[in-house]
Amino acid sequence: MEFCDKCGALMLPGKSGTTVLCPTCGKRAKSGDIILTEKLEKSKKLKKVGKEVRDTMPIGEMECPKCGNKEAYFWSEQTRGSDEPETQFYRCTKCSNTWRLYS
Ligand SMILES: [Zn+2]
Ligand SMILES: [Zn+2]
Repeated sequence: MEFCDKCGALMLPGKSGTTVLCPTCGKRAKSGDIILTEKLEKSKKLKKVGKEVRDTMPIGEMECPKCGNKEAYFWSEQTRGSDEPETQFYRCTKCSNTWRLYS
């Protein structure tokens, strides 16, 4: 399904099959172009949202022991006394599995 980017009406396939035509405003577009744009915009949006969430946490290369994904957020915390070494935490970007690594 393709929608007119001008007025939002459902585009109808043109005679040639490679174009679509808006019955409301008469806009013509190549079939496939609109879908492609939609996909691009969607992935852009996803990336943007993801960035906002992830801005506070750096992402590093670390294999998730649960799902095998190779990217994880990481941060370190002083869990016990201040004389103890910091504990490195990882959270999988894919399945949100969190694990720790003792230094
Ligand atoms: Zn239109
Ligand atoms: Zn994972």
